[in-house]
Amino acid sequence: TVVTRFAPSPTGFLHIGGARTALFNWLYARHHNGSFLLRIEDTDRKRSTEPAIQAILDGLQWLGLDWDEPPVYQSVRAERHAEVARALLEVDQAYYCYASQEELEEMRQKAKQEGRPMRYDGRWRDRDPSEAPSGVPPVVRLKAPQEGETIIKDEVQGKVRVANEQLDDMVLLRADGSPTYMLSVVVDDHDMGITHVIRGDDHLTNAFRQTQLYRAIGWEPPIFAHIPLIHGPDGAKMSKRHGALGVETYREMGFLPEALRNYLLRLGWAHGDEEVIPTEQAIEWFDLDAVGRSAARFDFAKLTNLNGHYLKEADAARLVDILCSEFYSEVSQVGRDRLLAGMEGLKPRAKTMQELADLGRFYILARPLEFDEKAQRLLAKGGAELLDALIDALQNLEEWTEEVIENRVRQLAEERELKLGTVAQPLRAALTGSSVSPGIFEVAAVLGREEALGRLRDARE
Ligand code: GLU
Repeated sequence: TVVTRFAPSPTGFLHIGGARTALFNWLYARHHNGSFLLRIEDTDRKRSTEPAIQAILDGLQWLGLDWDEPPVYQSVRAERHAEVARALLEVDQAYYCYASQEELEEMRQKAKQEGRPMRYDGRWRDRDPSEAPSGVPPVVRLKAPQEGETIIKDEVQGKVRVANEQLDDMVLLRADGSPTYMLSVVVDDHDMGITHVIRGDDHLTNAFRQTQLYRAIGWEPPIFAHIPLIHGPDGAKMSKRHGALGVETYREMGFLPEALRNYLLRLGWAHGDEEVIPTEQAIEWFDLDAVGRSAARFDFAKLTNLNGHYLKEADAARLVDILCSEFYSEVSQVGRDRLLAGMEGLKPRAKTMQELADLGRFYILARPLEFDEKAQRLLAKGGAELLDALIDALQNLEEWTEEVIENRVRQLAEERELKLGTVAQPLRAALTGSSVSPGIFEVAAVLGREEALGRLRDARE
């Protein structure tokens, strides 16, 4: 069975690239009826923070990417990692290296002169430990193969290979006995039973070293899938300006989790020309062979359009909940009820929750409203006399429904030989404080007779 994982380093928030990696792992697991696990790679104790861990968990939860077992914290497992290194020493797949800082610096300088990456030259590989200088704590290095190639059959990149002479004997345990990142990842992925490692292609070179390590220990490496990174709309590396922001920022900007999920899915994965792919459908269709090999470009407009689509589909009560808990403060019960009653009219006019919040605010505001500039102009144009006529016409209606209100206002316009807009525009301005809103008769009906007439009287003054 399939077991995938998302393994963030909690040195920053859950950014958009990480969220996509998590999504792909989650979808792959769900598609194959497997498990999706979470590992917090917090070995860098100085840079890992509790708020960052919380933001990652919150972000995943908000996105609906649920994990199947309690998260594994990598730092807790250091002793287990060291144990594996010691086992490698015992079977002569690893060795103690006493090279001093000066010696390593020399190797670095030499590599620099020759214009190649630094490679440890293996000087302690076959040396007798009895030659060890006293008082120098050694590191433990892998006795990596020096000939031949290491080959990865990557599910996205295809067959990739590196000549083993290009890779030096990597450090497994530092002089203080702490495990290196490379060792920790391999041991954890093995112990967690990970079958598929899906991650950004910035980790492809690590995969070669990790493969060497798996082989040295005698474990079967997982299947790798290295997905291309996300780029900005201009093709350059993703920056803040491009939207390389934390997931919580998208939430604050008013994107719905299902829209972000759909958008992230389409960033680097395709199913024909389908743009709208709800999660249930995504689970059914997702597989690694449709992951593209070139970098995806982030496109805010596309995300916004998708969000508009999901917003229209979303349940009105849920949208009211989101508005009241995340976008407004202190909404009265009356305000809530009005929002709910007016939601079907608001929804199609907004593409983000922020827009929806701005558009629907007049429903929750208490009298008297403030009128924006355009509204003021509309009110002035109609004049007090028209407002009086509207109040007069509406206050004696037998029923207060959209239809009855509309008929009466139409009748008023006809009586005065005015265009409907000439009457309806000041009405809109009075009821909403603005010049744009859902259908004004619907708005009047949702507000209720007393509130609508009250707002008209306020505008009259
Ligand atoms: N912790 C690594 C990162 O956040 C991921 C390591 C992995 O997926 O193997 O980039």
